[in-house]
Amino acid sequence: MPDLAKIILRNHKIDAVKRFHPWIFSGAIKEMEGEVKEGAIVEVYSDQGEYLATGLYNPSNIAVKILSFQKVSDIAQLFLEKFQNAYQLRQQIGLVDNPKTNCYRLINAEGDGLPSLIVDWYNGTAVIQAYSLALYQRLDLIVDCLKTIYADNLRAVYDKSAAVLAKSAHISENKYLFGQKNGNEVLEFGHRFIIDWEKGQKTGFFLDQRENRAILAQYCQNKRVLNTFSYSGGFSVYAMQAGAALVHSVDSSHGAIDLTEKNIALNNLGEVPHQSYSADVFNFLRDCQEDYDLIVLDPPAFAKSIQSRHQAVMAYKRLNYQAFQKIRPQGIIFTFSCSQVVNEEHFQGAVMAAAIESARPVRILARLSQPADHPTSIYHSEGSYLKGLVLAVD
Ligand code: SAH
Repeated sequence: MPDLAKIILRNHKIDAVKRFHPWIFSGAIKEMEGEVKEGAIVEVYSDQGEYLATGLYNPSNIAVKILSFQKVSDIAQLFLEKFQNAYQLRQQIGLVDNPKTNCYRLINAEGDGLPSLIVDWYNGTAVIQAYSLALYQRLDLIVDCLKTIYADNLRAVYDKSAAVLAKSAHISENKYLFGQKNGNEVLEFGHRFIIDWEKGQKTGFFLDQRENRAILAQYCQNKRVLNTFSYSGGFSVYAMQAGAALVHSVDSSHGAIDLTEKNIALNNLGEVPHQSYSADVFNFLRDCQEDYDLIVLDPPAFAKSIQSRHQAVMAYKRLNYQAFQKIRPQGIIFTFSCSQVVNEEHFQGAVMAAAIESARPVRILARLSQPADHPTSIYHSEGSYLKGLVLAVD
């Protein structure tokens, strides 16, 4: 590789890199040598000239996201190896050529050694979200990796980075980088879903709830189920398939409600009464007259940064309190948080505060998290964003 720009760290800041944490904060940088611009590949050194890592530079609080802790001679080769490793892991965990599930996360950012990159696989279409210019500038490389791995099974590659990167990178459109719009139906544990990667949220579907939906199904028989923040109706479809007595889905987005209705129709679940409500969940819980045996609370990330953490914790408390007020005795609540900055302890604290206020006996039956196709590096606890509790409320 041509000579790369160098970033020299302050002496007392090298320990985190030596412990394989993949981020270098701007305050850790002592000096920079060479032309270091947004998106550049840089080498990171100690003050004594010891090589530490190679990463991608972004002029922000997290200045470097590390790609490798070993010298890199060929960046295309490094990307390909990472894609191959990621694919191999999905094979190992049974998600490749699986007749019942043909959608999964192929690249989970730091968890697959490619910070700021998400690639989700939907039965022949790969949907990319690059969260930094460095990755955005390397989309061709990413498409090449996908072609090598999937060969003829790859029908299309859709770039959805504009949705997350538009402001900083001056890009305005999401587009197909390979192939074109094609069938968008997937299977998840045998349930059918239409994925709208073009207009839907994130890459189109919340793949991270796959296993939690299957766990929910175990609790649903003959139950009156309320699925809040339902998006495309994932939990609702599983609940209905599992023999719920009734399912209500609530989401503030009309698009989400449309998707929910389509997905329910697709699975021929006509026998179970279902009703969708396009409403704010907080208002719905306050005003509705129904009572439920099982409530799912899966809100969007209430905190996007550490500054909003306290407010987010208060919002989790309020939401869970409303569900504790509503749920029947011997009821079950599946409650989630996907805010990265709200850790398990904060989240459980918020739920406990809500339980105290409701004065109801509450037991924890299970702790839930993200599935194996959303791996996290053990050195990067920030990667474990999804947490959930299954609660019995008497
Ligand atoms: N449980 C879903 C994912 C939820 S994503 C699944 O398994 O696929 C969060 C959803 O909450 C989004 O669809 C968003 O439209 C909705 N939402 C956000 N704020 C809301 C609010 N205050 N009331 C109702 N829905 C809301």
